[in-house]
Amino acid sequence: MPQHPFGQRRTYYVNFASHLLNVYNPNMLYPELGLRWGDAEWCRLIDMTRAFGFTTFEFWLEPRLFCREGLEADYGKTFLKQLNAVTAHARSQDMDVEMIAGLATVGSDWYTCCPNDPEEWAEVEHLWSSWLGRLPNVSIVGIFPGDPGACARNGCTAMTFIDKSLEVAGIARRQLPKAEIELHTWGPPFFGWGLIEGPQGGKGEFHAELQGTAWRFDPARSEKAMQHLLERLPDFPEKTAVAINMGFNPDGEPAPGGDAASDARAWAGEIAKTNRILTWDFSLTEGENAILPHCRLRELYAKRRAEREAAPYSGGICFTMTPLLSQLSAFAAARSFVRPDDQPGDVARSFLQGLFGTQGRALAEYLPLFEVVPDWGNHERVELPLAEYHRSMRELLDLLSSLKATSSGPFHPEPEAYRKELIFFARLFRDVSSPIPDYDELRQRYWYHVYRIYDRLPAHVDPRPARATDGLVDLFRRWHEKPARPGTPPAGPPAS
Ligand SMILES: [Zn+2]
Repeated sequence: MPQHPFGQRRTYYVNFASHLLNVYNPNMLYPELGLRWGDAEWCRLIDMTRAFGFTTFEFWLEPRLFCREGLEADYGKTFLKQLNAVTAHARSQDMDVEMIAGLATVGSDWYTCCPNDPEEWAEVEHLWSSWLGRLPNVSIVGIFPGDPGACARNGCTAMTFIDKSLEVAGIARRQLPKAEIELHTWGPPFFGWGLIEGPQGGKGEFHAELQGTAWRFDPARSEKAMQHLLERLPDFPEKTAVAINMGFNPDGEPAPGGDAASDARAWAGEIAKTNRILTWDFSLTEGENAILPHCRLRELYAKRRAEREAAPYSGGICFTMTPLLSQLSAFAAARSFVRPDDQPGDVARSFLQGLFGTQGRALAEYLPLFEVVPDWGNHERVELPLAEYHRSMRELLDLLSSLKATSSGPFHPEPEAYRKELIFFARLFRDVSSPIPDYDELRQRYWYHVYRIYDRLPAHVDPRPARATDGLVDLFRRWHEKPARPGTPPAGPPAS
């Protein structure tokens, strides 16, 4: 009997960070801007994920909160009040609640403090201590290296990240004596520490154009850092878990493109001899870019089975930045940990039947067609000629229009609201694949429906929403120019 059975900790991670705001995500950071959820809606989401089989709800205390302003301003207090209510509800339902935070990245401008600068480190310690003291019911404290974040100033390396995480684990022990620690290896590994480039004379400012430098894989650096982690792990509190994918690359692949250099499986196996290991694959369910009804179930199940073979993984995350649109992904992600040998098509069909009755099963054939955007973690291949794609979207629209929601189980949103959002996307994709699309109108339609909250915000340090909107429209523009098939999705990390 392994110490921690496969898939035991199933974590539902809602990333509501300030660069990922959209109509399907709760706005937890700008109370005056709308898209707010009431506590009852949050509790319904928790109930749904619990019914799906998740054991843990996870959130990121993102840098806009993880700073003095976040502690003191009204938006921070509003956040805290609601998050504590959600946490209390989840804990009352026997779910764990995990708070993750970057070790040292603070403030709305994503400034990374240097642990080797005594004044900056004192600030980081203050923030960890203050925030953990305000979140008394959190049961797992996750410490991650970035992104965004990472320091290469003043001699900082991946080892600095590990050593300083140990100090933060001590703070967590004092503030939340019962909480477990989860240490994240994110990146190649330990995202950017000792590696990320900055401009001449810069300090810890965030530079979107330099984030890619934090993803470079250096075998010697990785070896040294992982060896150091193994040496230091016994010093961490008992039950500390380590989040480590099968590969030290954005897709968590053991041998991306046949290159086994960044294979992390042996390290995972070694850590698992003493500590719980988990995966943290963001791109498996949706990634952080294009917002659409994601359906990556084939990849999800293939990955789950590979994880089961690779090392004694005892769970992992289901990432979402669109909780109001990603029910199918969430359901399948939780279930794939429990029954990894299920067929993804069967899982989709039975889920959709639960929402819309027998007729709903037919949706399962169409939903993968939404995965047409070349994007981080998208291994689906939509290879229809454009005219056929257009025809399929028309069929999908007809099907969706004929369905009636039959389930009233703990869903958030209700199945009828979910159906309406699928209709929005089917219509959009039908129109953008029509013989003479009006690209400007389509761009505006998508932006207005999904991202209009950004019309009322100053430009964010991360330009993702505008890039994702342009990318979607440009894809179809290129497809129209060459109608045989869409562009081949490039694998690649997010820009930040
Ligand atoms: Zn530093």
